Amino acid sequence: MPTYRNFVGGEWRESSSNQATPNINPANQDQVFGWVPHSTREEASAAVQAAVDAFPGWRDTPAPARGEILLQAARIMRDRKEEIAQMLTCEEGKAIRESRPEVQKAIQITEFMAGAGRRLGGATAPSEMRNNFAYTVRQPLGVIAIITPWNFPVSIPAWKIAPALISGNTVVFKPASWTPASAELLTQCYADAGLPKGVLNLIYGSGSEVGSALVNHPEVKALSFTGSNAIGVRLYEQCAHRGVRAQCEMGGKNPCVVLEDADLTLAIEALVGGAFGATGQRCTAMSRAIVVDAIADEFLDRLIARTQQLPIGFGGNENTFIGPLVSADQMNSVLEYIEIGKQEGAKLIYGGQRLSDGDYQHGYFIAPTIFDQVTRQMRIAREEIFGPIISILRVPDLDAALEAANDVDLGLTSVIYTNDLARAFRFVEKIQAGMAHVNSPWLGGEVQLPFGGTKATGIGPHEMGDEVLDFYTDTKSVYINYNLPKRG
Ligand code: NAP
Repeated sequence: MPTYRNFVGGEWRESSSNQATPNINPANQDQVFGWVPHSTREEASAAVQAAVDAFPGWRDTPAPARGEILLQAARIMRDRKEEIAQMLTCEEGKAIRESRPEVQKAIQITEFMAGAGRRLGGATAPSEMRNNFAYTVRQPLGVIAIITPWNFPVSIPAWKIAPALISGNTVVFKPASWTPASAELLTQCYADAGLPKGVLNLIYGSGSEVGSALVNHPEVKALSFTGSNAIGVRLYEQCAHRGVRAQCEMGGKNPCVVLEDADLTLAIEALVGGAFGATGQRCTAMSRAIVVDAIADEFLDRLIARTQQLPIGFGGNENTFIGPLVSADQMNSVLEYIEIGKQEGAKLIYGGQRLSDGDYQHGYFIAPTIFDQVTRQMRIAREEIFGPIISILRVPDLDAALEAANDVDLGLTSVIYTNDLARAFRFVEKIQAGMAHVNSPWLGGEVQLPFGGTKATGIGPHEMGDEVLDFYTDTKSVYINYNLPKRG
């Protein structure tokens, strides 16, 4: 059984640590794919040093040439798409029908950022003075620490690594401990694309040891983190203390508002995908359905009927819709929320239990779960659960729907289903979220648009789009006076 190796200074190196945790298949915990080393703080420092050493050469490589290497990495990802998707499903659990689009997203962002190598310009501005020329240039920051969660172990690292590299930075990447193989495959694509040694380094290990060592390393000039609020806010404070920038994308508690004139087939299909797809383990999970009273009963009947049809099982089966939770801890946390919902007085109308018979006995499966009569004060309406649970909140109209939708601390994404353009625009204007959708699925976002949350979900510039380059570069304003006295 292999122990995953760190990738430092262009070499795959074994960790000196003799501690490791197994990388298991959450659909069958007896299946172990490899061991994740608990690398040491010294190894984290060595990875940073490799990135420091590589920085001058990479910074001085013309951005279009950096883009060529990214493009080659994207081609390799495309060639290995199926292999990466299958591994992702095996170690994270999500259905293969969702792993393939995730790898596709990684390819798209890498291609998009490869193109940014040819448009990494600044702006020109008129000067107040005659015969003066004023403009801006973007400059890289240095070494960037990238710390990522397990729930999108390919696309999230990809959408951080690509903009960091195209901007001329070097990277130390610490993936989540639950999903080491996805990180290895992604890194290998870059290595095979001819990325110079030390430009991208991968280091395994616990967040509290390796992650913390990176965040607090004096040579790390910025942190891009995606994960939980509890950790993200703490890391943001640590970065602020050192005076370096941080981008933290964290949890979501996203509303799906359904008005009486909605296309219910469209809304239910999207809700089922948004809440139960990826087993609800998505920052963009549509965990709150806010439905107007006039159609709530019909909506619920149809939602239950559709939920009954969803195949649950090992994500590698082509027809699986809902895979396992990633770990026993995650499963237990979701089961706890189901108990909380019952105790709070919400009406459990579907699911609500662990599945542990037959094919499910060695995995971390929970039935898709629907609570009705959920009120705004309940914890299941306010807190991110990260499991296959929908809370239905019934409201009289759009105003009440907006009030309920905005009555949480988090603000990642949102959607409304209606045929009324005026109310759709009103929703878009008033909803407190980084992203708003009208009659369309809300899951991943397109790479050419910014992705990220407002309120407690996101701190710092959003990811993706051209906007992300503002995070990975410093802007230098330049003033040139060419009004020089004639010589002689
Ligand atoms: P997490 O527990 O916060 O972990 C995220 C990463 O931080 C992991 O690599 C973890 O390492 C590392 N880490 C943990 N403690 C650390 C410390 N003290 N110092 C430095 N690094 C540390 O989150 P998760 O459970 O992996 O991911 C789920 C969360 O991510 C959810 O809240 C979800 O909403 C959020 N998320 C947000 C977005 C978005 O774009 N807004 C997208 C996806 C997910 P270990 O794995 O070794 O513990």
